[in-house]
This record gives sequence, structure tokens and C-alpha cells, in this order.
Amino acid sequence: MKTLLHILAITALAIAPALADKTVKAGPRKGRVLELTGQNAEFFVEKDRTISIAFYDAAMKAQPAAAQTVTATAEAPGGKAKIEFEKKGNLLVSKAPLPEGEGYQVVVQVKTTADAKSKNFRIPLALHTCKGCSNPEYACICDE
Ligand SMILES: [Zn+2]
Repeated sequence: MKTLLHILAITALAIAPALADKTVKAGPRKGRVLELTGQNAEFFVEKDRTISIAFYDAAMKAQPAAAQTVTATAEAPGGKAKIEFEKKGNLLVSKAPLPEGEGYQVVVQVKTTADAKSKNFRIPLALHTCKGCSNPEYACICDE
């Protein structure tokens, strides 16, 4: 029995790195980091429920929004809502707030340039502040 537990422990350790890239990372604005090719974006929900996206280089140094384009789809219970973004200062900000409620998924589609392949991120929308890491729950970095 002892040996079996030992084997299980080793197996668990071996599986851990494979799951590591699903770990949520939080950015400087306490938003959720979206990993892109050669750069990062940060998804953040403002108090008025608009979404703002900040950009960083691969080393998480802040960069102004440039050629990136972002669209989002809020899969709200009342129906899917497509959300478009516009540049505001260094950020891309949604033109409309998220639909009411939470607990639904927001699919964020990011293209780093007009010709780049788009990358999709599915973010479960939970807006309360996590007691463990003090980030909004959608950017919670606690081990579960
Ligand atoms: Zn947390």
C-alpha cells in the first residue's frame, strides 16, 4: 500500500507541469493575463462593467495598444452579446458594458496584427474579489 501511495504521489508530480500552462496569471492591474505570441494582454473589468485590455511585451513591460484588435462575446443567459473595442489612451476599451449578471463565459478574441491568427480566451465571469489573493475572481491566482 505504501508503494502504491508513493507511485500516486510521483504521478501527481509528473502531471503537475502539464497543467501549469492553464494556471491563471494576473497582471499589474489585477486583471487576467492573456498570453499571446511575443506579448501579453490583460483583461480587466472596470467598475462600469466595460472591459479594458492593456498590453505588455513578453517581459510584462507596459506597451501602448498598437495594431492589436480585440472582440469579445459575452455568453450571457439572456443571449450572446458581441462586444467591440476601441482605443482609449494606451488601452483598448469595450464600446459597451458587459450584459447584466455574472457566472457566464466571456470569449475574448485577440489578434496581435490585422494579419495574425486570432487567439481565443474563455474567461468565466466572476466579479467578486477573491479573499485569498485580493484579485477579482476571474483573475484569481490561488491554487485550487
Ligand atoms: Zn484568489
